[in-house]
Amino acid sequence: MAFESLASRLQGAFDKLRGRGKIDETAVNEAMREVRLALLEADVNFKVVKEFIARVKERAVGQEVLKSLTPGQMVIKIVNEELTALMGGDVAKIAVANRPPTVVMMVGLQGAGKTTSTGKLAKHLQKQNRKPLLVAADIYRPAAIKQLQVLGEQIKAPVFSLGDQVSPVEIARQAIEHAKENHLDYVLIDTAGRLHIDEALMEELRQVREVAKPDEILLVVDAMTGQDAVNVAESFNQQLELTGVVLTKLDGDTRGGAALSVKAVTGKPIKFAAMGEKLDALEPFHPDRMASRILGMGDVLSLIEKAQEAVDTEKAKQMERQMRQGEFTFDMFLDSMQQMRNLGPLEDILGMLPGMNKLKGNMKVDEKQIGRVEAIVKSMTKAERANPDLLNASRRKRIAAGSGTSIQEVNRFIKQFEDMKKMMKQFTGMTDKIKKKQKKG
Ligand code: GDP
Repeated sequence: MAFESLASRLQGAFDKLRGRGKIDETAVNEAMREVRLALLEADVNFKVVKEFIARVKERAVGQEVLKSLTPGQMVIKIVNEELTALMGGDVAKIAVANRPPTVVMMVGLQGAGKTTSTGKLAKHLQKQNRKPLLVAADIYRPAAIKQLQVLGEQIKAPVFSLGDQVSPVEIARQAIEHAKENHLDYVLIDTAGRLHIDEALMEELRQVREVAKPDEILLVVDAMTGQDAVNVAESFNQQLELTGVVLTKLDGDTRGGAALSVKAVTGKPIKFAAMGEKLDALEPFHPDRMASRILGMGDVLSLIEKAQEAVDTEKAKQMERQMRQGEFTFDMFLDSMQQMRNLGPLEDILGMLPGMNKLKGNMKVDEKQIGRVEAIVKSMTKAERANPDLLNASRRKRIAAGSGTSIQEVNRFIKQFEDMKKMMKQFTGMTDKIKKKQKKG
């Protein structure tokens, strides 16, 4: 999970403040010392930490906080606001050219996730009804062109390639022409990477920039490399003048140093964050939501957005209608489980709920257990799924054998299912009553 160790350190520091009725300057200083250590341990740039702590302290020992009724909460609120500001404040959106196509150069070192991110970005744009063209201009890494073509096939986006014998400059020039002729509105150029920054690479990128006149130059960096990522960003920015950063592999970054320092050090915002290898694992970077997540306040907004994308609304509506009529079948249960799964690993989902970050340590989500429950439902016949009353002892025995579980497990699940059904009935009954009352009133 992203930022796990930083989050638990910071939350630990704040727990001490939260409990107190009164807070004095010493208590604030003590908490700030811990925050400072937590940030340094998270590999946040030293200067950035120093300035951050100074800003928070200045605000936190002010009258408004010490005299407020919940000073602990006030300090946390200030830290939340300052973390948000540190990461850039508002969401930095991707450019849109006045006259299409919008040209985006994707740059970065080898292995950072540049090619994958190019594919993910194309998919993100498609979701907004844009038509991206992927351009294979990394002619040095042997598999890069093929990799982009495979990505293009997966998302059904056109890929422009002239093989590895034509110069990247020429590829970029022709690709933009191609996009214009075919009314494609984004040109995403996957440029060459290197293992290290060198002058030849920069020169080539400058030449491509000269011809492509990009609206965006996005640097892809690997969050897991911490301060190295920040240094890479600084060099690229000095030599190429970036417009933004794509931070990859946040799913494996427990510390968060790069995310917290990039904007402050380079002045360039993080525009997108990648949190996994799958093609839909790229999101616009929301500094405020990220700050809330780090502080264990959850990220309910992102969760809702995810749900809107992953959940089949027609199905959900139908399910709601059925539930209103007191109907809840195993099939509906299975459907809702599958929709939940579309949201991603449960642990990540839980991390977005307020306060769950801390709980998660004690409450390992057992994905295997969920798989077993699914197997049980799948071992039922159609008739059984629609009508739990049919499930007598011999049927239960068959289901246990079919799903590789035990009769006890099957019994326990059916009992849980019945309880759930009862609860839902009560719940819909309650909301109906409230609605009726509202109508009368
Ligand atoms: P490039 O050399 O910069 O083009 O790097 P690639 O796009 O080929 O990616 C290098 C490796 O990192 C691949 O195995 C990707 O699947 C993986 N990768 C890229 N982005 C992410 C991410 O956000 N999370 C994880 N876990 N892996 C990623």
